Amino acid sequence: AKKSGRNRFACFDHSMERELQTRNDLENGLRHAIPNHEIVPYFEQQIDLASERLHGFEVLARWEHPQRGTISPEIFIPIAEETGMIGDLSLSIMKQAFSAARDWDPSLSLSVNISPWQLRDAWLAQKIIKVLAETGFPPTRLEVEITESSLFENLALAQSIVGSLKNQGVRIALDDFGTGYSSLAHLRALPFDRIKIDKSFVQSINESADSAAIVNAIARLGESLNLPVTAEGIETAAIAERLRAIGCAKAQGWYYGKPLSVTAARRLLAERRLL
Ligand code: C2E
Ligand code: CA
Ligand code: CA
Ligand code: CA
Repeated sequence: AKKSGRNRFACFDHSMERELQTRNDLENGLRHAIPNHEIVPYFEQQIDLASERLHGFEVLARWEHPQRGTISPEIFIPIAEETGMIGDLSLSIMKQAFSAARDWDPSLSLSVNISPWQLRDAWLAQKIIKVLAETGFPPTRLEVEITESSLFENLALAQSIVGSLKNQGVRIALDDFGTGYSSLAHLRALPFDRIKIDKSFVQSINESADSAAIVNAIARLGESLNLPVTAEGIETAAIAERLRAIGCAKAQGWYYGKPLSVTAARRLLAERRLL
């Protein structure tokens, strides 16, 4: 019994070591990946539910690792946050996305994700405005998505950053609504232009009466606050139909298509005469 116990610990140690090794490799790799443009923007279609027309895209980061293949942002964004690289990573993604989308149809908007960590940077708004100016992408076509987590860490700073962006015509969305801590208080803290309902509620809407009730309540809340609501994670026509009936303004998800590379997005827009 004693022997097998020791083996078990030896085994445990090795897997922990491997995990640490991977994490170290990724962390070191990330330092070069940003300047080497291995971190690239993908584009997820956002659809206007009433007209079924393409409204714009959400920009999602992908790491095209030369050895490991495509790495999910769920893996590398937390590393970028913990190592202080998230600011540079985010500006690099924006630079690439704005340069690509500058020439697309002016009706098309872009939504970018901002990490709560970036809201600690007093110069964040100025940095984003500079990238907009350098790439020639109109601020009025940009929406910034902020998640609820740790928004209140430095509320005064977050308010000033958001104020500077809104002065330029940038819109602000509250992302992952319903999953965070004290959602309703967040809605009052910042001048949001849109609510995004988290996909965990959306995906179970036709199976769970509770999920349907929650999505319906959020849609009504958006109506009374005059905030359009976007639902994410739509995978079936039935869910899209249900959301339209409930009165969500916009929708995105695999039903409309997986996130596209710059090249694939251009191809789609060319087909639809939106280039
Ligand atoms: P998010 O902002 O909530 O983005 C939605 C996620 O849901 C994306 O995952 C998207 O690919 C995925 N998704 C879209 N439609 C469907 C669907 O129909 N079914 C399912 N199952 N999933 C769907 P992704 O691209 O892996 O991104 C994960 C998260 O990483 C994002 O969640 C966002 O929080 C973060 N992220 C991505 N890019 C960036 C970035 O440039 N900066 C920051 N700070 N965070 C980013
Ligand atoms: Ca988002
Ligand atoms: Ca989300
Ligand atoms: Ca999320």
